Amino acid sequence: MESCSRTIMPCAACRLLRRRCTNDCLFRPYFPPAEPEKFAAVHRIFGASNMSKMLQEVPVDHRGDAVTSLVYEATARLQEPVYGCVALIASLQKQVFQLQSELDEVLAENATLRAQLSVALSLIASCQSFPSVEDSNQESNHQLQPSECGNSDNSDMMLQYDQVTDSYTELANMFL
Ligand SMILES: [Zn+2]
Repeated sequence: MESCSRTIMPCAACRLLRRRCTNDCLFRPYFPPAEPEKFAAVHRIFGASNMSKMLQEVPVDHRGDAVTSLVYEATARLQEPVYGCVALIASLQKQVFQLQSELDEVLAENATLRAQLSVALSLIASCQSFPSVEDSNQESNHQLQPSECGNSDNSDMMLQYDQVTDSYTELANMFL
């Protein structure tokens, strides 16, 4: 009984409307006193009576989302009196189109790089008769094919070949 008579802190809506707030106030769960600007916005755009009607038409478990969307719409309308939310939607649509265009360009570039990588990998695969650097470095046997390689620069060439192979393998892992 004592708690019933105790005065409660008014919600933002009742404070703005200068009326007594109760525990079963319709606005109380959605317009806390700490955020007065939310109800101020919907009050200016929709009016307190319409807000009350709209909330009552919505199931209780959806009222929080309804308030969020109404506050968003009201804030947008205050910032953009002519187009309201439509201005924001148009701006976001423009961003989506721009990003889609950039994405298409990147995907096309990616396809080109994949094609180049595929060619490079097939070239490497065709050089299988080239002895590996691991063999020449670890075992130091230098059993190179009797190819066009010179005698003195074999190790350097093997090293360069191995580095190129590693680079293409990294690229392959990235793109394939
Ligand atoms: Zn209230």
